Amino acid sequence: MNEHRARKRFGQNFLSDPNIIRKIIDAIRPVPGETVVEIGPGLGAMTDPLVERLSHLHVVEIDRDLIARLHERYSPERLTIHEGDALKFDFATLGAPLRVVGNLPYNISTPLLFHLAEFAAAVRDMTFMLQKEVVMRMVAEPGTEDYGRLSVMLQYRFRMGRLFDVPPGAFRPAPKVTSSIVRMVPLPAEQRTAQDEALLERVVAAAFGQRRKTLRNTLREWLDEADFPALGIDPGLRGERLTVADYVAITNYIAAKSP
Ligand code: SAM
Repeated sequence: MNEHRARKRFGQNFLSDPNIIRKIIDAIRPVPGETVVEIGPGLGAMTDPLVERLSHLHVVEIDRDLIARLHERYSPERLTIHEGDALKFDFATLGAPLRVVGNLPYNISTPLLFHLAEFAAAVRDMTFMLQKEVVMRMVAEPGTEDYGRLSVMLQYRFRMGRLFDVPPGAFRPAPKVTSSIVRMVPLPAEQRTAQDEALLERVVAAAFGQRRKTLRNTLREWLDEADFPALGIDPGLRGERLTVADYVAITNYIAAKSP
């Protein structure tokens, strides 16, 4: 087959360093019998060792040329290829508990993480390579510059850890930025105590929508000045100061106030 020309619009940077590939597969530790899906298999850098270790693997890939290559390389008994956009893919159809892995297309990483978060109930764990800057936002603590909507909404659902960094030279073509491997494990449902998760989403979006404004302003739609002492939260703070638990408390307070 011809050499594949990397497509920028699909965020294609192919892993080529065998040591890094081994390190990622060791971190995933795939075991035969597990249900695993790889997002964006590309030229198969991770697919090959995954298929080797598993009895069967699912992949979701958008690029038709790459899909044709995958069909040539693997039998349907070992690899199920889901052709299409991972942003629209219903991961719940693959069964639970599901392990999700991938060297994700960086151009859609934030919307993809929000999409995947919806399947937390069906997921055992997720191990991804992403640009380091996004991983730093995912794992950021309150009061830091990286802490924002992505941190709160993912930390509400997952325990997360940054495993190790991967330099640009491990890819062809080399991306401009350093990458990191992140592991996400869903928290038990009983720890997710927001009574209305859609409202939590809206409150967090408002609090971080205008980062320089205080909670008194950003949460004006739901809270009066008198509500803040009841919540034990200073209305003069900015959204970046609040913990995930604070956001859950605010959401439940609003839900109780106007059921
Ligand atoms: N896993 C390969 C590797 O490590 O070498 C390729 C990684 S490359 C960063 C991202 C892969 O995701 C590409 O194969 C690309 O075609 C695919 N991709 C991009 N956008 C996608 C989407 N919306 N849905 C599914 N796959 C996508």
